[in-house]
Amino acid sequence: MDTAAVLPAFETFLPFSRPTISAEAIAEVGACLESGWITTGPRVKRFEQELRAYLGAPHALALTSATAGLFLALRALKLQPGDEVITTPMTFAATLNVIVLAGGRPVLVDVERDTYNLDVKRLAHAITPRTRAIMPVHFAGSPVDLDPIHALASEHGLRVIEDAAHAIGTEYRGRRIGSFGDVQVFSFHPNKNITTGEGGAVTLRDDALAAEIQLQRFHGMDREAWARFGKTGNQHYEILEPGYKFNMMDIQAALGLHQLPLLDAFIARRTQLARRYLEAMADWPEFVLPKAPAYPHKHAWHLFAPLVNTDAGTALTRDEFMEALKQRNIGTGLHYRAAHLYPYYRGTYGWGPGDFPNAEHISDRIVSLPLFPTLGDDQQDRIISAIRDVFDRA
Ligand SMILES: *Cc1c(COP(=O)(O)O)cnc(C)c1O
Repeated sequence: MDTAAVLPAFETFLPFSRPTISAEAIAEVGACLESGWITTGPRVKRFEQELRAYLGAPHALALTSATAGLFLALRALKLQPGDEVITTPMTFAATLNVIVLAGGRPVLVDVERDTYNLDVKRLAHAITPRTRAIMPVHFAGSPVDLDPIHALASEHGLRVIEDAAHAIGTEYRGRRIGSFGDVQVFSFHPNKNITTGEGGAVTLRDDALAAEIQLQRFHGMDREAWARFGKTGNQHYEILEPGYKFNMMDIQAALGLHQLPLLDAFIARRTQLARRYLEAMADWPEFVLPKAPAYPHKHAWHLFAPLVNTDAGTALTRDEFMEALKQRNIGTGLHYRAAHLYPYYRGTYGWGPGDFPNAEHISDRIVSLPLFPTLGDDQQDRIISAIRDVFDRA
C-alpha cells in the first residue's frame, strides 16, 4: 500500500450525475409559475404531444414517476393472488415493488454477465400458467433483446411492460424504444437522461389501456381539472372508479419541454464520454468493461458501469474503490445491488445467495462512474487518472 498523501482530483465534490438545465427551461418554469396555472394543464398536454412525436408512440401519458407508470400498467392486469410477473434481479427495487403492490408475485430471470440485461435464453423456462406479464429492463440504456421476448409473449398471451427508465432515446434494431411493442415506462428523475424534477411517462398503443391509465392517474375522474376550470369547462365530473393521484404538474412539464429537444445532443455527449472511458480503460485488468449487445442498436448511455475485477485484477473491493474515489472528491453510483437479496424479498420469497449467480456477481462488483452531458474532457481525464492512481496504490 502506497502511503503518499491522497490528493483530491477536484476542489469540490464531483457527483456521478447532474442534470443539465438550460436558461430556457428556467424561464419556462418561471413563466408557468406566473401564468396562474401550475398543476396539470397546457404544458403537460404539450409535453405529452412532444413525447408522442419524439418516441413515435400513439399514446404518451405523463405521470409523477416511472414507478407510478409501472404500477398503473400492472394494475390494469387485475392480478389475482399467485399471478406471476417476470423481471430481472438487476434493477432498481421499484421494478419488483410495483409487482407486489399490484397484487402479483415477482418471478426473476437471471441476467447476462456482460450486458447486465435479462438473459432471454432463460425466459421460456420461467413462464408458467400463472404468468401474466414480462417486465424487462433496458439496463443503462442498452436495449434488451425484445424480438424473442415479444415472440414468447404472444405465444403465451402475456403483456410486455418495458421498464425503459434508462432508455429514452435507445433504439433496438433501428426502432426507437416507445415506437413499437406493448407498454414502455420512462423516468424523468434527475439522474436519468432527461428530467422533469421527478416525473415519468407511459407510452402504448392500446386505446383501452391508455384510457384506463388516464383515468387511474387522476382519481378515476372523467375530466381532469384543467378541462373543468377553463372558460369552456364544466365544473361537474364523475368518478368512474376510485383512482390514484399520479398526475404530472405543469411546473414539471415546463422543464421537460426544454429537455426533450436536447436529448439527442445529451446522448451524443454521453456516448463520446463512454467511448473515452472504454478507450482509456481498454486494457486495465482492474475493470471488466460493459459490453454492447450483438444486434443493431443505439445505446442511450444512461450509465457507464464497469465491474471492479475483484477476481484477478485488484485487491480492492468495489466498496473500497468507491470510498477511495470519494476521498478524491469523485462521486460514484451503485446501480444496483441484486434486488432478490433485499430483506423483504429474501423473507417473502425465500430467495438468497446463489439463486441468481450472474446478478450477484455483478451486484458485488458494479460501480457507476461519473457520466453526464456537461462533464468536460479535462474533468474526465482527471477522473481516469485518479482511478488509475487508486488502482496503482492498492
Ligand atoms: C429510476 C428507475 C425507476 C423508477 O423511476 P422513478 O421515476 O424514480 O419512479 C424504475 N426502474 C429503473 C430501472 C430505474 O432506474
